[in-house]
Amino acid sequence: MAVQTRASAYETAQRRFDAAADVIGLPDDTRLTLREVKRELTVHFPVRMDDGGVRLFTGWRVQHNISRGPAKGGIRYSPNVTLELVKALAMLMTWKCAAVGIPYGGSKGAVAVDPSKLSQNELEHLTRRYATEIALLIGPEKDIPAPDIGTSPQVMAWIMDTISMHAGHSVTASVTGKPKDVGGSEGRVDAPGRGATYLTLEALKYLHADEQTPTVAIQGYGKVGRSAAHLLSEAGLNIVAVSDSKGAVHNAKGLDLSALEEHRQVRGSVVGFKKADAVSNEDLLELPVTVLVPAAIENQITEDNAGRIRARLITEGANAAVTPEADPILHERGIFVVPDILANAGGVIVSYFEWVQDLQAFFWEEEEINTKLHHIITRAFYEILHTSVNKRIDMRLAAYAIAVQRVANATMARGIYP
Ligand code: NAD
Repeated sequence: MAVQTRASAYETAQRRFDAAADVIGLPDDTRLTLREVKRELTVHFPVRMDDGGVRLFTGWRVQHNISRGPAKGGIRYSPNVTLELVKALAMLMTWKCAAVGIPYGGSKGAVAVDPSKLSQNELEHLTRRYATEIALLIGPEKDIPAPDIGTSPQVMAWIMDTISMHAGHSVTASVTGKPKDVGGSEGRVDAPGRGATYLTLEALKYLHADEQTPTVAIQGYGKVGRSAAHLLSEAGLNIVAVSDSKGAVHNAKGLDLSALEEHRQVRGSVVGFKKADAVSNEDLLELPVTVLVPAAIENQITEDNAGRIRARLITEGANAAVTPEADPILHERGIFVVPDILANAGGVIVSYFEWVQDLQAFFWEEEEINTKLHHIITRAFYEILHTSVNKRIDMRLAAYAIAVQRVANATMARGIYP
């Protein structure tokens, strides 16, 4: 009997690309090139641990495409990461940068490690060694890393410092998402959550669902989820549920976010928060809310639970949180999805601002950053919405169609594949 296995993350990314290539009628030679990554580097490197022993770690840096500018993509520290996933996320970055019209290609990096199990000293050694191994690919004109799951501004500072040590001078523009003291940008920490907030507000307006106080459930209370929670709440929405990898909390009347933050800082998790009921991560996704923001990991809304989602709008904060099988189910049920390549693009847009500021050594005020972010992400939203309505395709396919067309145009204009 044939055993059915779930498609790998990379096969899924290629399927999504194929669908967009069909919509725009992409010629075969361009299709052949864009459906594969350009470079993939695997590194195995030793790190001396605090107990004096040595552990060998595996990491990757993958560049999918650089037709529109240097490669850009985060670095993930997670025990569950594979080369296939890094390739998929690198491809996603190409489409994300193109979809919002910023001059980058796409890349991604990762180390297979659980950073919560390392001391600060071990984390620094691992980061510096990994940065050295991938240094041949990294630089302001070549490939610019940023934070992702399990990495932080501090990790970015160590990477920038390592690249700078090799160069013999400070190369601040080699990494974004750094602390402000070393060339980081105002507004970068909140940028993915802020972008998701702007888009949620536009989508609610479009759906005429902004009359009463909309309710929100957020899966994943990390960098993206926390910012989104605070900014959506500031915008007048009611956050009724949030979660992390340990579980979820729900209060139909609304969560007290400052009390929750105090609890999280002490307990290291949202679980156990007294002014709410405990629910599972699965239940959180199916709550009757106006807006659902998956902001944790991949493959959370699938063909198994898409039929039970009760949100009117999904703002897909996490990359690949919705599977290709779930998309048509959500579409048929009239659930509007702001897809990942748009929903969390605020992060890479403000990373772009950080890179520009570093190159110019001229820094902007936060208000200017937020205004420019609002302009770029809202413009992209309406371009994608327009294509979605005109071509009668869902928002994700519309975003991909626009992005793939832009990358194909650049590829053809350069004359590499006439
Ligand atoms: P993070 O590590 O700061 O937070 C991840 C959160 O998800 C944590 O609260 C973690 O406990 C929770 N989580 C992990 N597994 C879970 C599970 N199975 N169920 C529920 N919660 C779970 O990571 P982040 O930077 O906030 O990234 C989240 C997502 O957003 C990722 O898909 C990432 O690629 C994407 N993203 C991040 C950025 C950025 O700048 N940080 C930018 C764009 C996209």
